[in-house]
Amino acid sequence: MLPSSARLFGRTVCTLAAVAALCTATAVQVHAAAPFAAAQAPGWYRIALGRYEVTALLDGTHPFPAHEVLMRGQDSLDKASPGLADRLLAAAYLKAPVEGSINAFLVNTGAKLVLIDSGAGTLYGADGGHLLGNLRAAGYLPEQVDEVLLTHLHADHVGGVALGTAAAFPNAVVRVSGIDAKYWLSAARKAAAPGFLGPMFDGARASLRPYIASGRLRPFDGAGVLEEGITAVPAPGHTPGHTGYVVESDGERLLVWGDAVHVAAVQFPEPDVTVKYDSDGAQAALQRRRWFAETAQRGDCVAAAHISFPGLGHIVPAGSGYQWLPLNHIARAPVAGGVPLPHPCALPGK
Ligand SMILES: [Zn+2]
Repeated sequence: MLPSSARLFGRTVCTLAAVAALCTATAVQVHAAAPFAAAQAPGWYRIALGRYEVTALLDGTHPFPAHEVLMRGQDSLDKASPGLADRLLAAAYLKAPVEGSINAFLVNTGAKLVLIDSGAGTLYGADGGHLLGNLRAAGYLPEQVDEVLLTHLHADHVGGVALGTAAAFPNAVVRVSGIDAKYWLSAARKAAAPGFLGPMFDGARASLRPYIASGRLRPFDGAGVLEEGITAVPAPGHTPGHTGYVVESDGERLLVWGDAVHVAAVQFPEPDVTVKYDSDGAQAALQRRRWFAETAQRGDCVAAAHISFPGLGHIVPAGSGYQWLPLNHIARAPVAGGVPLPHPCALPGK
């Protein structure tokens, strides 16, 4: 049964139509009971960064239990500052649990195809594991990925490197801080860690197994250039070896910062709010403040794992905290030899 407005619209079109056949065709179109589609659009979004292309890839979204996970110091945020999380969420027209994105970023340098983070694979159930579909929708095949750089070894960043027991990226090497590799692949560290982190250890080991077996896990030490235009920046706190990657081409800079922010509506105004999963909350908060200040001052773009897809934006100071400014959405199609992709990370006047 169609709403009466739809039936009325159908009759009006018929009355105005000069040709009976057209009348019939139009009426059928207007009256067709289209099923609700339910599914979302493919999750990929592309920008140019200097001579590079960067494609944000969505692995999925999942409900983030803000009340259980947000912390201040040793206490839950709710205990330390009752009502604050709910007030900040409500101010952003949100409430707990907040649907959080799981983003990864594909960098094409022209010489190499580098994926930064890989989503959750099967480790978050049906909420994750959509990265490979979105990679294909974005015009690439998993076989084309040369390198996977991981910001850290939590399940929603490393899980996507595996496809069952096989490597999801059969020709790629996987690179991660040696500190994180040592920590999350250690049975002794797992035994000493809080119980809720156990699945994180198991997930990291299972996901990396095919790469370890084929000699394609290549941990690195500290800071340094990993590929032309891609520099590792150690940022410990969220995990012991948590690492950001600065991607730079022709003076345009993008900081891919992993898990510096989990709940944007809370942690931009209140950067000292941490999460239960931080290995060292105080250090994580310090790193977050440092990155907020640096990127706001420099005008760098940020690529964020858990800010609303595509997780690309700038940061500006706001009150006693900061504010996230998503990149302006541009969908002008590139034309061969003509209009290029947008360069939203170019600083004004450059
Ligand atoms: Zn994490």
